[in-house]
Amino acid sequence: REINLPQYLNDIIDRHEMLEKENIVLKRVLPETPILVQMDTDKMTQVLDNIISNAMKYSPEGGNITLSAGKVGRKVKVSIQDEGVGIPKNNVSKIFDRFFRVDKARSRDIGGTGLGLAIAKEIVLAHGGEIWAESEWGEGTTIHFTLPLQKARGASV
Ligand code: ATP
Ligand code: MG
Repeated sequence: REINLPQYLNDIIDRHEMLEKENIVLKRVLPETPILVQMDTDKMTQVLDNIISNAMKYSPEGGNITLSAGKVGRKVKVSIQDEGVGIPKNNVSKIFDRFFRVDKARSRDIGGTGLGLAIAKEIVLAHGGEIWAESEWGEGTTIHFTLPLQKARGASV
């Protein structure tokens, strides 16, 4: 389905704000103009729900979560930034592996299986995009993913 991404992301954030917990503030940095993207919204909602709920789970002392999106060349890039516990440098690339969780003792209390980001990666790759993380231990984490922009109507492949 062809989706207007900024509007879709606004709806996602609205829903999370209604379920909002504690003193976490969700901010949005979204373009005013439509950006059309071809996507399976059920699957993409699974991706965003996991990334946003991770940002909340791993931000124990609260803080801001910022969701931003914009065109970068022939792609659209979506970023979810938090001010939470962060991830040690040598673990950043592993968080997309099945069942990987940073500090098993700590994360046992938080709950989860360690599958959320592995599933997110599978879905983003199936859409022709990429996903990666940037993080500073103790400072926060940003998850970025890209999706290909809708080809102009009538354009050749
Ligand atoms: P599940 O999503 O299956 O309920 P989970 O949240 O532990 O469990 P993933 O979403 O795959 O699993 O994340 C893997 C691990 O990466 C987490 O256990 C956590 O250690 C780390 N992680 C993910 N997102 C963040 C974040 N925003 N801040 C800090 N650590 C994170
Ligand atoms: Mg998760």
